[in-house]
Formats: sequence, structure tokens, C-alpha cells
Amino acid sequence: MHQNLPQVRGKYRFDVNLAKMCWFGAGGHAAVVFIPSDLDDLIYFLQNKGETPIFVFGLGSNILIRDGGFDGVIIRLGSSMNFVQQIGNDTIKCGASILDQNVSNFAMENSIGGFEFLSGIPGSIGGGLAMNAGAYDREFKDIVIETQAVDLNGSLMTLINEEIGFKYRGNSINKEIIFLSTELQGYESKKSDISAKIEQIKQNRFDTQPVKGVKTGGSTFENPDGLKAWKLIDDAGCRGLKIGGAEVSQMHCNFFINNGYAKATDIEDLIDTVQEKVFAKSGIMLQKELVILGKKSPR
Ligand SMILES: Cc1cc2nc3c(=O)[nH]c(=O)nc-3n(C[C@H](O)[C@H](O)[C@H](O)COP(=O)(O)OP(=O)(O)OC[C@H]3O[C@@H](n4cnc5c(N)ncnc54)[C@H](O)[C@@H]3O)c2cc1C
Repeated sequence: MHQNLPQVRGKYRFDVNLAKMCWFGAGGHAAVVFIPSDLDDLIYFLQNKGETPIFVFGLGSNILIRDGGFDGVIIRLGSSMNFVQQIGNDTIKCGASILDQNVSNFAMENSIGGFEFLSGIPGSIGGGLAMNAGAYDREFKDIVIETQAVDLNGSLMTLINEEIGFKYRGNSINKEIIFLSTELQGYESKKSDISAKIEQIKQNRFDTQPVKGVKTGGSTFENPDGLKAWKLIDDAGCRGLKIGGAEVSQMHCNFFINNGYAKATDIEDLIDTVQEKVFAKSGIMLQKELVILGKKSPR
């Protein structure tokens, strides 16, 4: 594959250990990771990549990479899309590679409310747009005005909120695209009020989720309509269930944990086992929120 890659200005890295690029800290290698130097470089790559399989990565906080790795190019948006600026009294523009948390802090510094929920989501804005990430009764759907994106052939587009069709932990765009930047709507607020909300969110998380120094992908399954996935998992007797180095969190049953030596196979087997046990107990087939990528490898 290496010899067919377009000549870009950005960086190619070869045979990259993806376990180091995702929160689970497990999984195989990618043949190539590409970090474009800017938007033109990304477009050039997309227009000239041929049939090479590609996948866009944010911060890897919602991805499980299988042990067999990914035989293609992982695109990681670099510093050219790591920006945030105020564009109106209560509106912000930011790039897809900036951390949610940095946008939340920027909004607080500029007395713009409505972005506090971002402080607890450990991903990037691009990943948040793709997943319609949310917490504490707010999600990306509530703050996006419009986004700039590029399709996998390199064509640029602007999509307003309604065209993205945000839905629970996803969107309705019917082709693969890469989010580049977005304009977000907040409201005027007091810095002290925003700061207090952020502190409360952080405290709630520390009290209820295994977020401190833990290798996890956050919520594993979507909440079925009107129900809580963690409760269904608990009721099916799966709290603390282990396979190899993977474990269902004792603290929050919808968080699965790598105890330090888990293979991705352990984690995926645990996910499948919990799904089966929940179905056997409740008749409900939980759907994965976690994105799983790559080839399985034999145990
Ligand atoms: C401890 C912990 C707590 C969490 N809490 C929450 C929570 O409260 N609420 C919540 O919703 N989620 C939560 N998550 C899950 C995760 O943080 C979110 O889904 C987050 O938005 C993913 O962002 P990311 O940059 O890490 O994306 P990644 O995990 O890297 O990617 C996720 C998906 O987004 C796609 N993607 C990433 N960047 C782009 C882009 N620029 N363009 C197009 N697609 C892209 C990827 O292809 C992939 O399909 C949590 C995760 C952890 C580990």
C-alpha cells in the first residue's frame, strides 16, 4: 500500500500501534496513519487515494480496535483543525480536532453558556459531531448551527443542523464524511454560573463513572427507548463479569474496562456475552454505542 499513497505535505506514520491511540489501550496496528498538514493537503489525499480503505479517528474515546488491526489509512486531523474562536456574542466556531473540554473552557472564559456538558466528554469536536455526543440532557444536536465537512472523494460541503439529521448517538448522513469545523450556538451567561455547572458535572462523573485512570470506551451500549442499558446489564447479573483482562465496571455497568492486560478480543467477547445475557433475561437486544474497527485475529 505504501507505494500507492499520494505525495502529501503532511505526515505518514507506518505500522502504528492503535492501542496507544484509543482510550481502551488495546487492539492491533494500522498500516498507515495520515496527519494532513492542512485542509488542501487532506483534499489532495482524498482525491488521490484510489481504493485505499480509510477511517477517520478523533481521540479514540469511543472506538475499540480489534487485535488484527486496520489494513488501511487512519486519518487523524492535526493542529490545523485545532482551533476555537468567538464569532458573535454567544456563538463559537471551532475545528474538528479540538478537545470538547477546551471548547467548554473557552466558552466559560467568554461567558457563553450552553457548552458545559462538553467538559465531561473526553473526545474531540469531530467525534462529538459524528456521535451526537451528549450528557446531562444536552447533546451536539442542541448546539450546532452548521458544520463544514468533506466527503471521501474530497468534495467540500456545508451542512446545517437539520441536514445532519442528528439522532441518538449518531446522525443520518447517508455517506461517509469527515467533519472539519463547526459553528455552535450558546447563550449569554455568567462565568461564575458556568464554572459552577462544570464543577458539578465533573463531580457527578467522578462519583458515578469509572473515569479516573481507567482504560474504557465510555458507554458500551445505547440506552433503549425509556430504559437504561446499565440497569438491564445489572439485572442480567453482569456487574463485574470478566473475560480475560476485560471487566464490566462494578461502578457503572455500561462501562467496560481493560484491566491492563486485556486483548481487544476479551473486550469484544465480553460485549457479546453481556448482549446475550441481557437478551436472555429481558428479551431486549442492546445496540452498541461503541464503534468497533478492524480485523479479528485468532485467540
Ligand atoms: C470515560 C468516558 C466517558 C464518556 N462519556 C461520554 C458521555 O457522557 N457522552 C457521550 O456521548 N459519549 C461519552 N463517551 C464516548 C466518547 O467520548 C464520545 O463518543 C466522543 O464524542 C468521541 O469523540 P472522539 O474524538 O474520541 O471520537 P473517536 O472515538 O475517535 O471516534 C468515534 C466515531 O467518530 C468518528 N469521527 C471522529 N472524528 C471524526 C471527524 N472529524 N469526522 C467524522 N467522523 C469522525 C469516528 O470515525 C468514529 O466513528 C465517553 C467515553 C469515555 C472513555
